[in-house]
Amino acid sequence: MKIREIEEVKGFMPKHEGEALLNWAKIFSNIGPILEVGTYCGKSTLYLAKGAATNNQYVFTIDHHSGSEEHQLNEEYFDNEIYDYSKNRVNTFPLFIKNVNKFKANNIVPIISESSEIASEWSSNLGMVFIDGGHSIESAYNDYNSWEPKILTGGSLVIHDIFENPDEGGQAPYEIYKKALKNNYDLYERVDTIACLIKN
Ligand code: SAH
Ligand code: MG
Repeated sequence: MKIREIEEVKGFMPKHEGEALLNWAKIFSNIGPILEVGTYCGKSTLYLAKGAATNNQYVFTIDHHSGSEEHQLNEEYFDNEIYDYSKNRVNTFPLFIKNVNKFKANNIVPIISESSEIASEWSSNLGMVFIDGGHSIESAYNDYNSWEPKILTGGSLVIHDIFENPDEGGQAPYEIYKKALKNNYDLYERVDTIACLIKN
């Protein structure tokens, strides 16, 4: 799996942030498996999987595959290629699977579900959780509250799309980032809008 090929995959993970994600995945997959909320077409998943492979670890990745608010028809990030016109819905799953196969990634476990639904059934502990799902306040808090308790001490919580300035982006990821820092997390490293927090 070549980094410069992952850069070509459709998605919302710029190179410098993707490389940080890969590095953190290498480090924290040593603690336990990785879980991602927000697969989309698998771009971040592939970075995570490349890192996790160092420790022969799995990446579980959750998405209902019907897109967030901003991916819907006529919205800002609508994309023709992932719209199923026969069913009138966004469906990112076919392109995601195509990408997994293209990269021959064998440590990715897709979970097609709403994040908090599967969380309530989930009992195994995690070395790293990456939150990159819905960006409404409700969705971000649900993801934080659902998955944070499953992270092992010494493991990490990674949050994407952190914008201190409301003019640059939605505030929900920043809100859960601040909440984690107020609780039992310390900043491990931050690269632009993505931050890795370590659990005490
Ligand atoms: N990580 C991706 C981008 C994720 S976009 C990348 O690197 O490109 C956010 C994704 O979260 C969308 O695909 C959307 O379908 C999914 N999503 C939003 N809310 C969700 C929820 N409550 N449960 C599961 N998936 C959700
Ligand atoms: Mg994102």
